[in-house]
Amino acid sequence: MANKMNVESFNLDHTKVAAPYVRLVGVTKGPKGDEIYKYDIRFKQPNKAHMEMAGLHSIEHLMAENIRNHLDNVVDIGPMGCQTGFYLAVLNHSDYDEVLDVLEKTLNDVLAADEVPACNEVQCGWAANHSLEGAKEIANEMLSHRNEWHVVFAE
Ligand SMILES: [Zn+2]
Repeated sequence: MANKMNVESFNLDHTKVAAPYVRLVGVTKGPKGDEIYKYDIRFKQPNKAHMEMAGLHSIEHLMAENIRNHLDNVVDIGPMGCQTGFYLAVLNHSDYDEVLDVLEKTLNDVLAADEVPACNEVQCGWAANHSLEGAKEIANEMLSHRNEWHVVFAE
């Protein structure tokens, strides 16, 4: 790539990765010593597959609500516009293996859910666009590759 871009993921060669995976994107240090760890949680192989919108939207709600039961100091977990993954930002948490365990627990919460939290017009910006079944399919496929999450690049 000719020029280094501002956004870390724009410098990542998306043809070289092997989804699903969890990758540390980077650490942002604040002036008082706090650190934000940002992770790329890739569910689908870039440019080969993607999450359908309704299921993606529902797994977003389910993960956002449930991950905070397993991990303190979650700043955000939000979907990528390409619909292949999520970014997770956590304050002062450097334990990569624990992030994988927390993700596993959170996806098991998705499988056990009997409703999507906050899927109504008061609490969500597109309440008609949800699929609990779609969310469970995404979670199930991701969990079936649990032993590969730490491998980011194809060998
Ligand atoms: Zn929503």
